[in-house]
Amino acid sequence: MSMDGNQHVCSFCGLPGGENRRLIEGDNCYICEMCISVCYQMLNVHDDPLDDNIDIHSHELKDFVLDLTPQEIYNKLNEYIIGQQYAKKVLSVAIYNHYKRVQNNLYCHSDVDIEKSNILLIGSTGSGKTLLAKTIAKILNVPFAIADATSLTQAGYVGEDVENVLLRLLQAADYDIDSAQKGIIYIDEIDKLGRKGDNVSITRDVSGEGVQQALLKILEGTVANVPPGGGRKHPHQEFIPFDTTNVLFICGGSFEGITDVVKTRLGKKTIGFNAAGTSAEITEKEAYEKVTHEDIQKYGIIPELVGRLPVLAALNPLEVPELVRILKEPKNAIIKQYQTMFKMDGVELEFEDEAVEAIAETAHKQKTGARGLRAIIENIMLEIMFTVPEQKNLNKCIITKDVVLKHGKPTCIINDKTA
Ligand code: ADP
Repeated sequence: MSMDGNQHVCSFCGLPGGENRRLIEGDNCYICEMCISVCYQMLNVHDDPLDDNIDIHSHELKDFVLDLTPQEIYNKLNEYIIGQQYAKKVLSVAIYNHYKRVQNNLYCHSDVDIEKSNILLIGSTGSGKTLLAKTIAKILNVPFAIADATSLTQAGYVGEDVENVLLRLLQAADYDIDSAQKGIIYIDEIDKLGRKGDNVSITRDVSGEGVQQALLKILEGTVANVPPGGGRKHPHQEFIPFDTTNVLFICGGSFEGITDVVKTRLGKKTIGFNAAGTSAEITEKEAYEKVTHEDIQKYGIIPELVGRLPVLAALNPLEVPELVRILKEPKNAIIKQYQTMFKMDGVELEFEDEAVEAIAETAHKQKTGARGLRAIIENIMLEIMFTVPEQKNLNKCIITKDVVLKHGKPTCIINDKTA
């Protein structure tokens, strides 16, 4: 098949061949390497058809065993995520139950249907929502994909089809459909789908409700048709059937202003009684902890979608002491990363406690949570990183508070003497 005089296209996905998509020619047709890989996976799922005794799920059983208790999942999360105790606990239990549910579906087939426990994470920007989802995928060793709800649109509008989210997971699993079907998808900015009013684009469906409806289907479990080459779906395309029954969806959003919804709800209940816990007395942190599914619905998320996200966990806004710990403690803490890089140049890097605190305070003022930490350090370290490889016999470099706040020079120890 040829689109024009020279360019051949894959007869399966319809995409043109090229350097990154080599085509193999058949009798008046072509197949690209991507489609070959997908077909290979599809054929492999069914094992050897000649062997009647083969348990079709036997290889899945090996793949999908969780040998961690909720407490052990929680302990592992602690290695990477500072604070957020409640969210970590909720997630540890949800993950444990998710495994039991999938195992029940695959191997036990008991009469009782265990419902899917997709998760909704609420928390201000930079509080660790994405990190939580990513870390879980790492602990479980399953494919993981991140999607942005704001880039998704209802079929027929400008933007990405919801099925492309599944394609991303398939790509993360190296086109191993079996493994992808048990992966984790994190959908960020889910709250933006509920936002009605001011600046909505007319190229997207106006309320975001069409996208919510489309998401609903894949969240609850369906066999979706995924276009192997991505892009918009069109009628003359081959699709990969993707069963989302065992995919765990974690949705996240900052739900800005939701604390007002909570405060109003709690305020209303106590009106006239002068009771403790009226709206005025609730802090932002407490209000976040009290968010319910009802509040999410009031925010503009359709009730059906809220219902498909039964596990709700709120993350606290990070305070200065937590930001200090984030800089120093996690396995891949930013300070540890810089120290490793300096060590490769034979230089010991030290951050004074006051300097670390100053970085945390600056990030806290910016209200970008832990997200701002890296940018602040990058900014401080630029000049130092530029000169360190040039300096001969440099043993140690100490970052003081002055370096952070006044762009002063770090204390350098050359030949064991302060320079
Ligand atoms: P969100 O998705 O809530 O906006 P992210 O998870 O993307 O925030 O966080 C941005 C970065 O900040 C992460 O890559 C991580 O380095 C750091 N971070 C955020 N929260 C935490 C936390 N609780 N513990 C450790 N690091 C964190």
